[in-house]
Amino acid sequence: MTVTTSDIEKAAEVLRAGGLVALPTETVYGLGANAEDPAAVARIFQVKGRPPSHPLIVHIGDAKQLDDWVEEVPTTARLLAEHFWPGPLTLVLRRGRRVPLEATGGLQTVAMRVPDHPVAHALLSAFGGGVTAPSANRFGSVSPTTADHVRAELGDAVEFVLDGGACTVGVESTIVDATGEIPSILRPGGVTREDLEAVLGYSIAVSSASRVRVPGQHPSHYAPRARVVLVEPEKVVIEAEQAQELGHQVGVLLPTSIAGAAVKAHAVVAVPPSVAAYAHGLFGILREFDQRGCDLIVASLPMEEGLGLAIANRLRRAAGPRPS
Ligand code: AMP
Ligand code: MG
Repeated sequence: MTVTTSDIEKAAEVLRAGGLVALPTETVYGLGANAEDPAAVARIFQVKGRPPSHPLIVHIGDAKQLDDWVEEVPTTARLLAEHFWPGPLTLVLRRGRRVPLEATGGLQTVAMRVPDHPVAHALLSAFGGGVTAPSANRFGSVSPTTADHVRAELGDAVEFVLDGGACTVGVESTIVDATGEIPSILRPGGVTREDLEAVLGYSIAVSSASRVRVPGQHPSHYAPRARVVLVEPEKVVIEAEQAQELGHQVGVLLPTSIAGAAVKAHAVVAVPPSVAAYAHGLFGILREFDQRGCDLIVASLPMEEGLGLAIANRLRRAAGPRPS
């Protein structure tokens, strides 16, 4: 899991040659390509099976580079970048000419982020340019939070995997529409709404979990193979046991309010005790249920405050209707 300077050099070389590099960030592992190379960007969509209309986030090594990539940086965007970069905040701004339309799904806006991870930072510095890096998984499935998850899911499709250990935050960045002076949250994530509001000094809107902003985006996302059913915490045990009796292999994500409850199910995992630990562990737990052969996961939503907002968003999407 130690990444050497020579690994970083090799990875930067792969990016320069138009290849793909899986890289750790504090949120999840990304599948990186040179943002300015339309062919390399196209390979990301191909490897992920992601619809080309679904825009990517451009990662840069330093907030000072932001102006090189966008048309303009409104005062509010500047303030948020100063406070939260490097970190799990993505700012949607007007696209600069440097950003190919392939990376933005044809939009005139671009999503920008400075990740807070020593390996991501080293790679971005060595490479020098911007790296488009969506989560390193097939479109719609659970995001990888370890290098093993990436290898298991993408195998040889990616030229180089930088193993930086487990991602600390564990859920994706918060995406904020910062094109105007009053920002809004497009996707909850690692920076909480409360943190943003504390810096801004006013409250901001969060688009609903089901809001489909981008064409081609399916309501089901972050989804394990097993079907996910969300119920009230006090119904988790009964729902799980009934499904198990009907012949399902049930995985239970046991809420803290009923921690220690006995459940007759195939696999039982307790929700981690703190919301940060829950975010950190969420995608790994969903993968574990799949590995243990569950076909149904019963869970409930956490309180939608702090990181709980991002966790609830991912669980809702995981439970969303699947493509037939
Ligand atoms: P990820 O799959 O984690 O890389 O997240 C990329 C997400 O960023 C997509 O799901 C989009 O919803 C969002 N996004 C990227 N670019 C834009 C943009 N220009 N406008 C709005 N949302 C964007
Ligand atoms: Mg993703």
